[in-house]
Amino acid sequence: MYPLTQYSKSFDRIDITGQLICYSLFRSIQSTNVCEIMKDRKLNKVDKLTITFLVDNCIEWMTKLPPGFSHELPQHLNQPGHGIPDNDTGVPILDFDGFCCGAHGFSALIETHVEGDEEHHLTLFDTGPDSQSLVRNIRAMQTPTERIERVITSHWHSDHTGGLLSFLELRSKHETTIPCVVDVHPDRPLARGIAPGPHYNKVICAIPLDPTFEEITNAGGVLEKHSGGHTVAGGSVWVSGEIPRVTEYEAGIPGGQRWVKGADDEDGKWIAEPQIMDERYAAIDVEGKGLVIFSACSHAGIVNVVKDAIDTFQRPVYMIIGGLHLAGQEFASRIPMTVEFLSNQLKPSPFYVLPMHCTGFYAKIALEKAFGDGCVPAGVGLKVEVVGNKELEKRLFVASY
Ligand SMILES: [Zn+2]
Ligand SMILES: [Zn+2]
Repeated sequence: MYPLTQYSKSFDRIDITGQLICYSLFRSIQSTNVCEIMKDRKLNKVDKLTITFLVDNCIEWMTKLPPGFSHELPQHLNQPGHGIPDNDTGVPILDFDGFCCGAHGFSALIETHVEGDEEHHLTLFDTGPDSQSLVRNIRAMQTPTERIERVITSHWHSDHTGGLLSFLELRSKHETTIPCVVDVHPDRPLARGIAPGPHYNKVICAIPLDPTFEEITNAGGVLEKHSGGHTVAGGSVWVSGEIPRVTEYEAGIPGGQRWVKGADDEDGKWIAEPQIMDERYAAIDVEGKGLVIFSACSHAGIVNVVKDAIDTFQRPVYMIIGGLHLAGQEFASRIPMTVEFLSNQLKPSPFYVLPMHCTGFYAKIALEKAFGDGCVPAGVGLKVEVVGNKELEKRLFVASY
């Protein structure tokens, strides 16, 4: 794989006809590498995208959902054998042990299909925080783990990587000939910690360690390290590179800390790390609708994420999914500016916003005020189907902000 990071800001453009614009790239590297990278960066439009949320902080069973969204409960009623037959009432008794649990983290199963392709591709985006929640919820949703061909980790924080090894262990119990690629950013920290405000200078705890590269390989994962943007799943899913920080008010997480060891510094020390530069987002382009963006924790800021996706693909944003990281006092001032950007500055504004994981209560309220029913109360166990539309494709216009 050619290292893409050094070029990422100079050629990240695909025009409205889908052609890459990469003038500086042509000046920079040899043509053989250009061909390889162009193949690697072509994002195919999908005619169907199905998302199942496998880990999230919230469980939301009751609120009315838009078309294409399904709650967990009716999905269980459609599963063969779910529930305990009850002779007295004649209807099955729900089995709550077979339902999803909530956890502070994120994981979504992404199923994509491109017209003309015989295969559907299953990609897992993040793995939740611990060894139990993802495994339980995979069983609950009867997810075909043996068909998952790739796990993408959004960044090195264990509320997103904590379920990776137990997932690989579960998958290894199934008979399958499909290897499971684990797609990570190469810059895995030794440890990360939290230094709360108002001074942000005293680390009070470390976040559980992420799996090591060796542990991932030993658990059966085929490790791929990517610092640059690339497509996966038969060209149907985009995994971003480093997200450019171009929005002034999106200044990272003030309490972020990283444990480092220098050559002569055997003991190591904590250093401030407000920017989590290993964070990546994923995007899928649905024909006739536009981009569906997954931003798991949005340490880079969701505005920066959206700007990068539009600069890269020049496509409208149909749906924004993920933790928007606007919870807590230190992020409160960003809420109105973020909502203003998404609902007003961004043209066209997204059809749906699914604020999940670390978005926070007050940001959800503000998004609901701005988007109405377009702000969907998503949670674990929810399924979403986004179906492409050839006629609408002719009417889509280039997004701007
Ligand atoms: Zn994080
Ligand atoms: Zn997170």
